Amino acid sequence: MTTTNETQGLNFLQEVVEEDRRTGKHGGRVHTRFPPEPNGYLHIGHAKSIVLNFGLAQQYGGKCNLRLDDTNPLTEDTDYVESIQRDVRWLGFDWDDRRFFASDYFDRLYAFAEQLISQGQAYVCSLSPEEISQYRGNFTTPGKDSPYRTRTVEENLDLFRRMKAGEFPDGKHTLRAKIDMTSSNPVLRDPPIYRIRHAHHHRTGDKWCIYPLYDFAHCLSDAIEGITHSVCTLEFENRRVLYDWIVDALIKGDRPYQYEFARLNLTYAVMSKRKLLQLVQEKRVSGWDDPRMLTISGLRRRGYTPASLRDFAKRIGVSKSDSLIDMGVLELSIRDDLNETAPRAMAVLRPLKVVLENYPEGQTEELETANHPKREDMGTRKVPFMRELYIEADDFQEVPEKGFFRLAPGKEVRLRSAYFIKCEKVIKDAAGNITELRCTYDPATRGGDSPDGRKVKGTLHWVPGNAPVAQVRLFDRLFSVEQPDKDETKDFKEFLNPNSLETLSGARVEPMLADAKPGDRFQFERLGYFCADAVDSKPGAPVFNRTVTLKDSWVKEQKK
Ligand code: ATP
Ligand code: MG
Repeated sequence: MTTTNETQGLNFLQEVVEEDRRTGKHGGRVHTRFPPEPNGYLHIGHAKSIVLNFGLAQQYGGKCNLRLDDTNPLTEDTDYVESIQRDVRWLGFDWDDRRFFASDYFDRLYAFAEQLISQGQAYVCSLSPEEISQYRGNFTTPGKDSPYRTRTVEENLDLFRRMKAGEFPDGKHTLRAKIDMTSSNPVLRDPPIYRIRHAHHHRTGDKWCIYPLYDFAHCLSDAIEGITHSVCTLEFENRRVLYDWIVDALIKGDRPYQYEFARLNLTYAVMSKRKLLQLVQEKRVSGWDDPRMLTISGLRRRGYTPASLRDFAKRIGVSKSDSLIDMGVLELSIRDDLNETAPRAMAVLRPLKVVLENYPEGQTEELETANHPKREDMGTRKVPFMRELYIEADDFQEVPEKGFFRLAPGKEVRLRSAYFIKCEKVIKDAAGNITELRCTYDPATRGGDSPDGRKVKGTLHWVPGNAPVAQVRLFDRLFSVEQPDKDETKDFKEFLNPNSLETLSGARVEPMLADAKPGDRFQFERLGYFCADAVDSKPGAPVFNRTVTLKDSWVKEQKK
């Protein structure tokens, strides 16, 4: 999936940079930027771009700017600016004092536009936006010249200044680059570069009523900032010629170049901010940071670590052709990380009461257990053991099916770090539901081993009878099909998975988990990795999100 140089293991962008350094292009400098539009929260695809841009700069001793690309006043907002900065920092990257806004450059971009007009390379067109697109033709039909294409420089300057002064309503005139209406690439058919928009801008207020379009603003912002390598996604490939045309027309000396890489597509997910916004606005999720959302804030709340997302970006690599990455790859990254770093703990999601008939009433003992099976440095903790306990309801079967090695009438199992117990009797309520198991324990097996060499096949997790109650949230894929937005005739929301969230309010957790701080991560033995919810979890009333299961149980589930 990665385009790499076999001998050096470089991706194609690293190869470009190395070649440029060899030839002395850009004086050996590497200067990249991450240019989000502040019209939504960042998602896992942006994480790929962040790791790539900041990573390239880091690797070659260069710099990476954060640029908020805020040229569209209608959709942008300061809340988004804040969230973007929080997310980039959380991922572990730093722009130092180089946070810029495209709107910082509005005066300079305006001056560039006048220069382009003066050079005879731009004109004010008075066709309506609909007519402009009719005149443009398409891939099979060439465009035809606008009747306004021959306006003089003076006329164009006058009209453009009056556009800026607010004399015209939206859509009345457009500034267009004068390139080639017959070009085989429709992008070069006199693209609009400035339009009238009487709209309040979140930073420049009402100063402007004309706004530069992406193609004009982006390459010149790169040039203004001294960017060397302007990395973007593949859909901009056919616009590279326009990028070059504008930069060549206006910039002397060292200049930026555009390179395209494949955007990240993940199974069972949508990645467009517009679609994510719909989910938020229509309350299909609890917010941008809903743990089922593949936004950076959602992944953080779910329990993903910055290291796991950086690792994911490395695993998928950088390539020049589009592909669809399996969600399982993302889950591998977080599992690998948490397997090393998360302390172990015990919790019971759907508790079934166990009474040890031969354990003295009123007695409690503290059983020592390791916080991590491989890392002694993480120490041990004590878990109270007593006559009443809870085990997981599905760890018991009254009539065990074939291959079920957990608890059943007359069967013996190990309780993790505790004792062997044997089920003597099943208690049911009037409706026939199992309410309690009566068991005995073997005092000789303290710590979980039998001195007589007796073996048991099952080891269960458990919590003591006085274990605090917790809320636990289990998540499934937000969508029930691999590519929810593949079929453009259908609304992607039709494919939302109705069972993507399961809330368990009666889970029981071992005592130390009651004090988990928001954001604390654990492996709950046999159940997966969990994280105390950053918003709803309170000391004494913990709420845990399942970040990921221990194994990729999902593929198996689907087959059932
Ligand atoms: P969306 O389609 O989600 O709205 P966008 O491209 O409009 O994304 P921007 O804010 O313009 O969002 O993106 C900022 C940077 O992140 C761009 O350089 C863009 O190429 C990159 N980016 C966006 N989506 C992805 C993705 N899925 N994979 C890799 N990079 C991405
Ligand atoms: Mg964009």
